[in-house]
Amino acid sequence: MKAALLSVGTELLLGEITNTNVVYLSRELNTLGIDVMYHYTVGDNPARLAEMIEMAFKDCDLIITTGGLGPTQDDMTKEIACQVMGDEMVLQEDILEEIKRRMLAYKAYMTDNNIKQAEMPSRAVIFYNDAGTAPGFALDRTLADGKKQYIACMPGPPREMKRMFTRSVMPWLEGMAEGVLVYKELRMFGIGESELETALLPLIDGQTDPTIATYAKDSECSVRVASKRANRAEAEAAVEDMIRKVDELVGQFIYSHDDEDLVRVVSRKLMEQKLTIACAESCTGGMFAAALTDIAGISECFDRGIVTYSNEAKIQELGVKPETIETYGAVSEETALEMATGIRRVSGTDIGISVTGIAGPGGGTDEKPVGLVYIGLDYKGEVTCRKIDRRITDRGRNRRYSTLSMLDMLNRALG
Ligand code: ATP
Ligand code: MG
Repeated sequence: MKAALLSVGTELLLGEITNTNVVYLSRELNTLGIDVMYHYTVGDNPARLAEMIEMAFKDCDLIITTGGLGPTQDDMTKEIACQVMGDEMVLQEDILEEIKRRMLAYKAYMTDNNIKQAEMPSRAVIFYNDAGTAPGFALDRTLADGKKQYIACMPGPPREMKRMFTRSVMPWLEGMAEGVLVYKELRMFGIGESELETALLPLIDGQTDPTIATYAKDSECSVRVASKRANRAEAEAAVEDMIRKVDELVGQFIYSHDDEDLVRVVSRKLMEQKLTIACAESCTGGMFAAALTDIAGISECFDRGIVTYSNEAKIQELGVKPETIETYGAVSEETALEMATGIRRVSGTDIGISVTGIAGPGGGTDEKPVGLVYIGLDYKGEVTCRKIDRRITDRGRNRRYSTLSMLDMLNRALG
């Protein structure tokens, strides 16, 4: 199936907002096996919108629009789509009731605008909006030669759109397509995207089903394996078989076979193994503690995090020896290890983890360049250290990479 994405909104043309909806939808549709051929953007203008829909249909059977579904004057996607698809608007009592119920809850008055929201094309498949008020919908038309064309319209706000897409539009699309699509996302850390692609080349080359796609995002990589077959069992078997092959090539970097964040994987292991942990952070300034405490239920495991930025803080709070810092420097394996054992001793936890490094952009020397980071781990008295020397000069990236490395080191220690 060939698809076009159509974004509606003058704000987009003026460059006032970034079109994140097309990025999300392109990715989602491609994994569903729907080829996205075009991205169109049009302002809030009825004639141009109608023209654009007709134009997109010249080469596509499916158009997905976002934006312009709200109750205000400039929102006209619904009316125009209805007109182009040769349908007419009717008042939908159940939607009107729902809007009234919400208005009552918000103690607001019904206006003509709200009534307009309850009007829908008569043949539309309605997609309810549980994150906002404007419902979405899908419509089809049959051309003289018997060919069918489809349009699905969703609201503009990304949060509403994404929810509607996964809850309603995806099942609608799956119902339309022949076959079943199954996919899994493998997440990894410690390997770059080009290295990953090279490693997987023997699998990617000449592969039509399952498909393998690699993605990179902020120091992490993921691989999506997807298969479309006549039935679910066949598609699942094909995906599993391919995952086994991916595992053989890059298994040592994979931390989740189920699209789970690294911090979630680590937190789950800490909770399952009933381990307690404390951290002492220098260059990440509390980012590790913030990541862990983002997870509900981690209070069972997480005792404390101390940001020991200055040498004095490392000495006072963690008992790092002044001679260690004098001899080896604050950014050294020796200091990182004393920080880890220090925080574990102070807090009495099973695990103490530490980080010290040069985040940049300044402060580096030939001997200790920007991006040099040491992570110390004291796991029930067994100490290990990881050195990172990736010459990353961007402060933010360095700090994020260091935080992920701490999680990765912990993940490996937890088995
Ligand atoms: P509402 O009921 O909120 O008016 P709507 O469907 O009419 O919804 P628009 O008025 O077109 O949507 O856009 C509302 C807001 O949604 C925009 O101000 C913008 O913040 C966001 N938005 C719209 N389109 C996009 C897009 N393509 N990418 C990212 N954000 C978008
Ligand atoms: Mg609007």
